[in-house]
Amino acid sequence: MIKDLIRSEFKDFIPYNANQVPYRVKLDANESPFELPMSVRKKLSDIIMEGPSLYLYPDTDSIELRKTLSAYWSVDMEGIVVGTGSDQLIQVLVNTFVGVGDKVICPTPSFSMYKLDTIIGGGTAVEIPLREENGFEYDIDEFINKAKSDAAKLVILCTPNNPTGNLLPLKDIEKICSMCPDSVIVVDEAYAEFAGDTAISLLPKFENLIVLRTFSKAYGLAGIRCGYSLSGKEMAVEINKVRPPYNISSLSQLVAKLVFEARGEIDAQIKYLIEQREYLSAELEKINNISVLPSGANYIMVKLPDAKSVAKELEKRGVLVRSFGDAPVLGKYIRISVGNKEQNDILLEELKSIMG
Ligand code: PMP
Repeated sequence: MIKDLIRSEFKDFIPYNANQVPYRVKLDANESPFELPMSVRKKLSDIIMEGPSLYLYPDTDSIELRKTLSAYWSVDMEGIVVGTGSDQLIQVLVNTFVGVGDKVICPTPSFSMYKLDTIIGGGTAVEIPLREENGFEYDIDEFINKAKSDAAKLVILCTPNNPTGNLLPLKDIEKICSMCPDSVIVVDEAYAEFAGDTAISLLPKFENLIVLRTFSKAYGLAGIRCGYSLSGKEMAVEINKVRPPYNISSLSQLVAKLVFEARGEIDAQIKYLIEQREYLSAELEKINNISVLPSGANYIMVKLPDAKSVAKELEKRGVLVRSFGDAPVLGKYIRISVGNKEQNDILLEELKSIMG
């Protein structure tokens, strides 16, 4: 009975499956290996002891957090929207702009939620391939032509792309924004802190551009579910009509603000993880039968024979990595999140022993 009531587009959906198994080392979800900075923990515990007013609803507009972000990015705070993870902002963007049958252009392989949120919102996802033989680079003319011919409401770009790790150059983003003035161009920069590049500098030039950022990766705050968008004020006004009220808990707003203010420490963590990425890539390259894709993110894609069974064997040994099952192209790869030196060395040791 319940099965008959569900919308037909969702009948074959599989619920999101986070790897809930015991582990020694968790390198499957691109999380940070760093705990909350001690200075932040102290401030937080003081605030909690003073009384954090949790009997009140949170500030529905996350004003203090947006002020902090606005000062850092030199962007008007009216153009900043905070979401329960950038996940929520992707969903809110689809719900704001995409009606039944409207088209959303997105890359494939890439973050799966672009397509799922589009389908949930009643739109049609038009996936443009990033081809393995071209190092998964974006063919931007294909994106532009398809956006125009389909009168796409949204064009979603992900840089560094998850899971392939490659970057979309700023000049290409600029070209897409100017060639597709009738579409909203969403640039998902969930991992941009590990690449250094950002489309935020293009915001004053393009009112159709919106950039998504998250606290889940470089800031080590996946547990508080907090992300934000930067755009012109006009775009933010429309998004705010659809964003659920009180979407960010008081504690999440507080922790995000405190961690953003502890940027010195976060910058050092980012630098360390970039060094670890280079170390891990170089060491992985030395293992038999493995090839490594260049990455601008905090994860590395590795191509190897029997990827799925290797991932299973690693899991048996307590090392979690991301496998793509039997997917046509990605099935030949595993994605390894960059951990701390100790975690990376455990992964390397186990992988070497499996690969012989
Ligand atoms: N964008 C990309 C490319 C991602 O990989 C992820 C998380 N894996 C997200 C957005 C969502 O991140 P969050 O909701 O934690 O901000």
